[in-house]
Amino acid sequence: MSALFDLTGRVALVTGSSRGIGNALARALADAGATVVLNGINRERLKSAEAAMAADYPPGRVHSCAFDVTCDAEAARGVAWVEENVGPLEILVNNAGIQHRVPMLELDVKDWERVISTDLTSAFLVGREAARHMIPRGRGKIINICSVQTDLARPTIAPYIAAKGGLRNLTRAMTAEWAASGLQINGIAPGYIHTEMTQNLVDDEQFNAWILGRTPAHRWGTVQDLAGPAVWLASDGSNFVNGQTIFIDGGMTVVV
Ligand code: NAP
Repeated sequence: MSALFDLTGRVALVTGSSRGIGNALARALADAGATVVLNGINRERLKSAEAAMAADYPPGRVHSCAFDVTCDAEAARGVAWVEENVGPLEILVNNAGIQHRVPMLELDVKDWERVISTDLTSAFLVGREAARHMIPRGRGKIINICSVQTDLARPTIAPYIAAKGGLRNLTRAMTAEWAASGLQINGIAPGYIHTEMTQNLVDDEQFNAWILGRTPAHRWGTVQDLAGPAVWLASDGSNFVNGQTIFIDGGMTVVV
């Protein structure tokens, strides 16, 4: 591992990492040397994710802290727990997110608020708490997990589109206020990623054909495709990259 991308000894918190993309990102950071803290709400799922991951790394490199990223007090408690029990937080990945599919005319405001709060407000709450610790130390990396829906709309997912678009501008707002204190805040916007969650879409012949036709790289993304950009944005290799959102989408957002 080149020193530029070496995360040895750095503490990373990845929200929503008991499964899916968050879990893969936590493993990518751990593979680069970081000590990682997994997070989720479901304690049983989180504990079994921690046990599964701990088996693959040296002792003390994998931890977990259950908290709800949409709750101000819980976000503060979670970040304080990391600082006290694991070490100074140097890398935060705001990954926790949910989806809710329904046409906008039938969308209940409670569901709108649930998605906005999980996919956007959470990054402000956990990010602000992390920054309160990072700023006095003059260093820190925050990576906000966006989406191609940061840039592109589709019917039936209005709150997700609004949240993910907002997340890109929150990334810029954090940069405006915190970059001078030595923090780099950037976004990663994954395209359509083949995971357990999207297996039904991969199996849907019509949708799969649409994705392949719409993607210049002519394939689905994999969680492994996100590993390199995540390690780069968490490392000294990106020390002058500020407020950017990197689309990892096989080119989907640059063509019509
Ligand atoms: P996923 O498999 O559904 O996993 C979601 C994770 O978030 C779980 O660990 C879940 O924990 C956690 N979570 C949900 N609400 C939470 C809360 N209030 N507090 C703490 N943790 C919470 O999701 P995914 O598909 O990997 O997506 C991860 C991120 O990538 C999301 O931001 C999503 O928008 C983005 N993304 C995904 C894709 C894709 O193709 N999948 C593409 C672009 C962007 P529990 O297990 O405890 O519920």
